[in-house]
Amino acid sequence: MHEMSLAEGVREIVDETARSNGAQRVAAVRLEIGKLAQVEIEALRFAFEVVKRGSLADAARLEIVECEGTAWCMRCCEAVVIAGRGDACPKCAHYQLQVTGGDRMRVLEIEIV
Ligand SMILES: [Zn+2]
Repeated sequence: MHEMSLAEGVREIVDETARSNGAQRVAAVRLEIGKLAQVEIEALRFAFEVVKRGSLADAARLEIVECEGTAWCMRCCEAVVIAGRGDACPKCAHYQLQVTGGDRMRVLEIEIV
């Protein structure tokens, strides 16, 4: 499951950041996940519950903020919002789109104690 390795990556970032800030534990982790990032949010939540055990994030709350997928339409010469990869332009219905945002996941904030 690809969410398991994503969750491990998050735990590593969180653990390292918390340690380098001399934290006792992590209270919350806020992630931003783009709608085009191909991340199954429920699977990621479950994976994080598993990988956080024994780390500084053991009791951390996971908050997820979803962000829109955006693309540049080469026909409209305009930025558009799309719901999924491979979708047509909502304005001209063509497929000459280049994804410009909402295609990644990142750690927005870590709350430490
Ligand atoms: Zn278009």
